[in-house]
Amino acid sequence: MTIQTVRGVRDILPEESGRWLFLEERARRILAQYGYRELRTPVFERTELFARAVGETSDIVEKEMYVFEDRGGESLCLRPEGTASAVRSFIEGSRHRSLPWRVFYLGPMFRYERPQKGRFRQFHQLGCELFGPEGPLADAEMMALVLRLLREIGIAGAVTLEINSLGCPVCRGPYRERLTAHLESVRAALCGNCQRRLERNPLRVLDCKEENAALLEAVPQMRDHLCGGCAAHFQGLVGHLERLGLPYRINPLMVRGLDYYHRTAFEAVAEGLGAQNAVAAGGRYDGLVAEMGGVATSAVGFAMGLERLLLLMDESLGGAIAPEVYLVVAGDEGVEGYGLGVAEALRGAGFRVEMHLTGGGMKSQMKHAGRSQAPLTVIVGQQEAQEATVMLKQMESGTQESLPVGGLVERLRQLTG
Ligand SMILES: [Zn+2]
Ligand SMILES: [Zn+2]
Repeated sequence: MTIQTVRGVRDILPEESGRWLFLEERARRILAQYGYRELRTPVFERTELFARAVGETSDIVEKEMYVFEDRGGESLCLRPEGTASAVRSFIEGSRHRSLPWRVFYLGPMFRYERPQKGRFRQFHQLGCELFGPEGPLADAEMMALVLRLLREIGIAGAVTLEINSLGCPVCRGPYRERLTAHLESVRAALCGNCQRRLERNPLRVLDCKEENAALLEAVPQMRDHLCGGCAAHFQGLVGHLERLGLPYRINPLMVRGLDYYHRTAFEAVAEGLGAQNAVAAGGRYDGLVAEMGGVATSAVGFAMGLERLLLLMDESLGGAIAPEVYLVVAGDEGVEGYGLGVAEALRGAGFRVEMHLTGGGMKSQMKHAGRSQAPLTVIVGQQEAQEATVMLKQMESGTQESLPVGGLVERLRQLTG
């Protein structure tokens, strides 16, 4: 029996890795434009990091983490998301001493979820975290970044920001009481899940997919119960979005389940593939650094799943990278050695060269050259090896020329611009 990949994971094959590379390079360029630098954290961490940062009662921690004991008996897990590690690194490096701290991460995450189309147990996320700034300016800049990124990868269809304010410790308590009282009054109409979590986390009822729209529309909204500071923050954010001309709509039902989320929550929603897709989700988590034992520091961030982005990315972008030159070599070992030398010299000059390595007649080698999609073929035979020349063929026109090997680099530069 042959060994196959584990259920729910897959290879990114050479045919598709060009698109991944394109997406990653584009993203890196834009992130650099906004002053973000890459933070590369380990793919495994102490289990308790996520229990504290993501929340003991979240689906991720309760059901989806890959937890294992290492040989020293310590409980570790594969990272299910990126923010917890960034916060851990922030605290460990005492970064509060030199704010702001702008970082991004890009890499695989791991969750034991039911595999389905487009969802894998090893998946990839790109995320940004900005520590320090408290005002809505930072939130608006981050949203502008997200939209620019989506635009630059030619995402199909329109993208809209959905925004909401989640309040702060001052105003959320009273709102929560009001919400709970209201939900108690309609308790019988709630789904079983929500009835159970009503006391512990009434906010989650708002984004429960089981509840009917009319019931949700009638609940008191956080937006109408914000304290002065939160209301000003939200108004400031809306003002910035208006001035930048960024498309947004307010979604009062967008919530986050944990107390350390403050004020802004947002998603970027793409209308493509026949349905609405949240392609990025983010918000403010001003309470998290303190929650994790660090010096209280404001923070705002977002994350996006690369698998989903690739589904929406313009199909013409990031195809496979073809060689510039295919090198055909017909002759004995001496001729092959001469050809190898020519290939190495061209690579040394910066060209992408695919050399034919498996022998065969001229006709079959030329067939390979055509399949490689290289625009130029360099042909080397007995005569060329003796005379220190090469035959150069332009594949599109069929034009052939013989030239001394010493002049090849210059001629290729002319032809490839
Ligand atoms: Zn508030
Ligand atoms: Zn529910």
